Amino acid sequence: MKITVLGSGSAFSSLSRFNSCYLVEVGSRKFMIDCGSDAMRAMQKAGVDFLTVDSVFITHMHADHSAGLPAVLTAMHVIDRKKPLEVYIPYTQLDFARLWLANMFIYSGRFSFEVSLLPLKDGKIDFGNGIEMEFIPTRHLEKYSEHAVSFGINAVSFSVVVREGAKSFYFSGDLASLEETRGHLESGVSFVEATHPPLGEVAALSANAGGGMYFTHIPMELEEGGEWREKLAAKYGIKELKSVRDGQVIVL
Ligand SMILES: [Zn+2]
Ligand SMILES: [Zn+2]
Repeated sequence: MKITVLGSGSAFSSLSRFNSCYLVEVGSRKFMIDCGSDAMRAMQKAGVDFLTVDSVFITHMHADHSAGLPAVLTAMHVIDRKKPLEVYIPYTQLDFARLWLANMFIYSGRFSFEVSLLPLKDGKIDFGNGIEMEFIPTRHLEKYSEHAVSFGINAVSFSVVVREGAKSFYFSGDLASLEETRGHLESGVSFVEATHPPLGEVAALSANAGGGMYFTHIPMELEEGGEWREKLAAKYGIKELKSVRDGQVIVL
């Protein structure tokens, strides 16, 4: 399994960290997890082949995880991609996504390739040959529930696990608390978001995490010289935050 970090930034991306976007190559499959607003540039920078990605999984519909999707799909059409593409959208917003993309003239029939919009929901998908993905609901969007209800939206968000035999990769997606990572950091490689959980939780995990755990979704405040970074050092004694960077490749 090969994981390429395409975007390890937060909602306010930077020139060195794009919005959330990862490529996982497992067996003969290429999975893209998240497609943040600058995904196209992130893919270009990392040299990802737009013709060969098999599936895109959107962990939730915040723009830093989803807004690059229309541009990436359009780019694939422009270069005359033929291979069908699966796009998994949180199931409660699948109808919205269908309309959203149709309003940008993105639909099978007009495009050079088949776009299958599929529901991303709790549970596992078996891709055969020992390859499996699991989606675990997170509490990240609970704080928006009042707003969501007023618009008739029931939004959901997910963590993702990719498994190939005994190998595993866990991506937390956006969370409310690092308690939600419990039971998922013991084996394989894991990427945990560092923007939304309380700083004390980030500090505790940073001090106790095993070798396979890396922070991602790094906000500007956690970069060198950032306000949270200084607090992390002064208050919690954490001088080095183990985090991934854009372009980093991890093979397991
Ligand atoms: Zn979010
Ligand atoms: Zn986010």
